[in-house]
Amino acid sequence: MHKVFLLKGKEKPVLQRHNWVFSGAIASAEDGIKKGEIIELCDAQNNFLAYGYYNQESKINVRLLEWNKNNIVDDQWWYKKIKTAIELRKDLINADDTDSMRLVFSEGDSLPGLIVDQFKDYLSVQFLTAGMDVRKELICDILEKLIHPKGIYERSDAAARSLEGLSKNTGLLMGELPPDDLVIKENGLLFYTNIVDGQKSGYFLDQRENRKKVAKYCKNKNVLDTFSYTGGFSINAKKAGAKDVTSIDSSSLASEYLKKNYELNDIDFDNKQVITADVFQFLRDSKKTSSNWDVIILDPPKLAPNRQSIPKAERAYKDLNMQAISLLEPGQLLVSFSCSGAISLDHFKQIIAWAAKDTGKEIQFIEDLSQPIDHPVRAAFPESLYLKGVIARILG
Ligand code: SAH
Repeated sequence: MHKVFLLKGKEKPVLQRHNWVFSGAIASAEDGIKKGEIIELCDAQNNFLAYGYYNQESKINVRLLEWNKNNIVDDQWWYKKIKTAIELRKDLINADDTDSMRLVFSEGDSLPGLIVDQFKDYLSVQFLTAGMDVRKELICDILEKLIHPKGIYERSDAAARSLEGLSKNTGLLMGELPPDDLVIKENGLLFYTNIVDGQKSGYFLDQRENRKKVAKYCKNKNVLDTFSYTGGFSINAKKAGAKDVTSIDSSSLASEYLKKNYELNDIDFDNKQVITADVFQFLRDSKKTSSNWDVIILDPPKLAPNRQSIPKAERAYKDLNMQAISLLEPGQLLVSFSCSGAISLDHFKQIIAWAAKDTGKEIQFIEDLSQPIDHPVRAAFPESLYLKGVIARILG
C-alpha cells in the first residue's frame, strides 16, 4: 500500500479522527498513487496514523476512513461499514409509518463522499468524491446484498463533484428505473417522489421530524409554506388541522407534485394556494396586500455553500427573515431554516435577531430545530451538522 506523509505538527486533527486532510498538511506522497486509491497516512517519522483515500486534484488530498491499523480497508471492510450504518437507522425509524430514510450520510457515518437515500424499494445514491466514485461497483454490490432494492439510481450531480475533478453523473446503476410516480411514506403521510428529475436525491428526508414538529403549531392557523418543494410542510400542516395553507416554490415541477400529494393524502386544496413564484419577490409584494398568515415557514436552499459566501448569505437570510417578520403580528410564528453548514445555529439566530430589530419587532425563540437521526453528526466531524431551524414568536 502506498504511503502519504504528514508535515510535522499536523497530526492533531488526524488523531482526533477528523476525516479530512488538506493538501497544506501533507509533506509528500509516494509516486504512482491513483485517484481514489486507499493509502496509509503516516506522520513525519513514518508511524501509521490512519487509512484513507487519496485525490491529488482535490484540496482535501486525503479523506480518512479507518484509524485502527489492523482493520485493513478491503471489500469486507466496506461491507461491514455500510452494514453498520444501515443497521443503526433501521432500529430507530418506525417502518410502519416511514419507509424512506438516509441510509448512509457521508462523514456522519465516516464514509466521506457517500450518500445513500432509500425511497421505499429504490435507492438514490451520490458518489461525491473520487474515493467513492472509483468504488461505485463495489458499493452497489454491497447495497444490493444488504437491501435488495428494486433499483439503484445514481444522482451524482452535486456541484461539489467539480472540487474533486469529477464531472456530474446520473443514471441507473442496477435493476429498474425508479418510476416518476413512486409513492413514499413518511410519518404516515404519502408523497409522490421523483428520484430521477427531483431536486438533490429526489426528496428532502432531512426535514422529516421538523415537518411533524412544525405541524403541531399549525392547527386552525393560516400557514404560508415558502420553498415548499413537493409539500412536506404543507401536507403535514393541513393534516394537523391548518385552516389554510399557501405554498410557494419557483419550480413548477415541484408545485405539480405538491398538488398530487394533496390528492394522494385525501386533502382538499385550492389551486390558487399553490403558487409558482420567487419567494423573495412574493414576500416583498405581500407587504402591499393585507395578508394574514399566523405561521410563516421559510426553508430556502443552501444560501452559503462555502465560507467565502457567508457575507452574501447573511444578507439574503436577513432579507428573507425581515420580509417574513414584517408580515407577522404579535402571537404569530416564524419558522425559519438554514441548511448552510457554514452558518451555525447561534449565527443564524443572530441574523434573525438583526432582522427582527430592523423591522422594529421583538421576537422570542421558542424551539430550536435540527437534522434527524438518519443524518447523524460524528463528534469528530462537527461540519456534518448543517440543518438548523428556529420557531420564533412575534411579541410586539
Ligand atoms: N421545504 C421543502 C424543501 C425545500 S428545498 C420540503 O419540506 O421538502 C428548497 C426549495 O426552494 C426547492 O424546492 C427549490 O425549488 C426552491 N427555491 C429555490 N430558490 C427559490 C426562490 N428564489 N423562490 C422560490 N423557491 C425557490
